[in-house]
Amino acid sequence: MRLVLVGPPGAGKGTQAERLAQQLDVPHISTGDLFRANLKDETPLGLEARSYMDAGNLVPDSVTVAMVKDRLADPDAAKGFILDGFPRTVPQADALAGILAEYGVELDAVVEFQVDDEVVVQRLLGRGRSDDNEEVIRNRQQVYRDETAPLLRYYADRLVTVDAVGEVPEITDRVTTALEARK
Ligand code: AMP
Repeated sequence: MRLVLVGPPGAGKGTQAERLAQQLDVPHISTGDLFRANLKDETPLGLEARSYMDAGNLVPDSVTVAMVKDRLADPDAAKGFILDGFPRTVPQADALAGILAEYGVELDAVVEFQVDDEVVVQRLLGRGRSDDNEEVIRNRQQVYRDETAPLLRYYADRLVTVDAVGEVPEITDRVTTALEARK
């Protein structure tokens, strides 16, 4: 199964991606986690990403795509993957299509997590990450609307939309039920 999860910051994509990856026995690939690991290790990639992340802006596509391309080349991604936080722009989606074409595979579905902005601000302020102050959160929401929401049209032919407000297991069930219904 090759899935992409799309949703505004704080929609719970990471938690759901973890659970779905376990259920489906495929790797969970989070670009945010990859960037944070690079930041922690102070790699050149991490240092390059830092200022963008701190401001809640997107790291440039060229940097992000190269990182994902590397990760998808790891053997564990051959059986499928759950991409969490990538693609986030239409050019990234085009690049992903190119990478997958090289492997002769396609995305099975794109899952959209729907949640109201105000619910998310309250959730994120409770999370306490360094890019979780209110100003940065609002910027990330704006970036989502401007750069990422256009992907919902881009992926219209494989889009599955799920209400992301509720208990964690309940939302996982919504996703798996919606994916089953598509088959
Ligand atoms: P996340 O954990 O997905 O919210 O990502 C945290 C930060 O990492 C984002 O605010 C961006 O600065 C950066 N980032 C993560 N994924 C991407 C991506 N696909 N394209 C550009 N920047 C990204």
